[in-house]
Amino acid sequence: SNSADRPVPKPGVMDIAAYVPGRSKAAPGVKLWKLSSNETPLGPSPTAVAAYEAVASNLERYPDGSATDLRQAIAEVHGLNIDNLICGNGSDELLGLLANTYLAPGDEAIFTEHGFLVYKIQILAAGGTPVVAPETNYQSDVDAILERITDRTRIVFLANPNNPTGTYISDEEVRRLHAGLPKHVLLVLDAAYAEYVRRNDYSAGIELVSGHDNVVMTRTFSKIHGLAALRIGWMYGPIHIIDALNRVRGPFNVNAAAIASGVAAIRDRAHTDKAVAHNETWLPVLTNALTDIGLTVTPSVGNFILIHFPKDDPRRTAAAADAYLTKRGYVLRAVAGYGLPNALRMTIGPAEANEGVIAALTEFMDRG
Ligand code: PMP
Repeated sequence: SNSADRPVPKPGVMDIAAYVPGRSKAAPGVKLWKLSSNETPLGPSPTAVAAYEAVASNLERYPDGSATDLRQAIAEVHGLNIDNLICGNGSDELLGLLANTYLAPGDEAIFTEHGFLVYKIQILAAGGTPVVAPETNYQSDVDAILERITDRTRIVFLANPNNPTGTYISDEEVRRLHAGLPKHVLLVLDAAYAEYVRRNDYSAGIELVSGHDNVVMTRTFSKIHGLAALRIGWMYGPIHIIDALNRVRGPFNVNAAAIASGVAAIRDRAHTDKAVAHNETWLPVLTNALTDIGLTVTPSVGNFILIHFPKDDPRRTAAAADAYLTKRGYVLRAVAGYGLPNALRMTIGPAEANEGVIAALTEFMDRG
């Protein structure tokens, strides 16, 4: 029996802090440079845009509920078996499906201190208990994660590279983490930024997934492929996990425009190479320029940087910098919600925006 006089959400739901996306508004009358959601400055492949437009002639039809063409294209490009792939309405949806499928009330799921916010939301929505593992120097700490394993642990979510810190851990460290997990604990490798990483000791996790029953890797078309608006994510995992998620997901969770555009985007290797090259050019330029003016930038391997502002100077706080930049049209991401009140996250943008932010922050740091 229940004496409430209106429907009441199940335990956990009202503990969720709703996700607040990166802002997309500058001051009135100023040209907007949106650098708050890690979107690519290059936009999508022109072939993806053409594929999107072609879908308009067939809008009355349901899409292929299994996103077969898209899974086929992903399988070909990455050398994977199509049966080990599932697509989602953004990788956000896949993270939610994993939580809903593998967490019963009271089960625990671990993520890192400054880990991607969606993990906590999905764990709570599933009725699970979020467990936070501290980081070391803004980097995921394998020992800290392993120390938090209990009888109730069911999932470990690891963003590698992590957002919003931009840091990564080596393939060797990921393997050490996996080796320390009980076999019934699922390791979710969230590799949303994998394409940007230029490090020999990094792996998105495909080989680890291939060899084990308790590892999956999630990826997205929102970053390198420039299709954030269409919400396309994919997951590579063992058949038994793909099967379970296929039972839980909505029947047409990936729409027709997403399927068509995704196929074209992933096949345009020249376009993704261009996006990677742009990032490789600007990542060190921004990091060095901002370090030179007295800011601290966490070394990043992604398409964004975490900029730390002085703690002891009330005129140069992250909030003051945010206001200063916004007034000039540069919209960065405040990351207080990630436990980083003294920092801002900046997406690597087009040259003009990157130069503009460097100039504006130089003035900001110089003023009396
Ligand atoms: N994982 C990480 C680490 C992210 O930063 C993001 C994007 N903010 C996502 C997953 C979700 O991406 P999407 O749902 O657009 O695929």
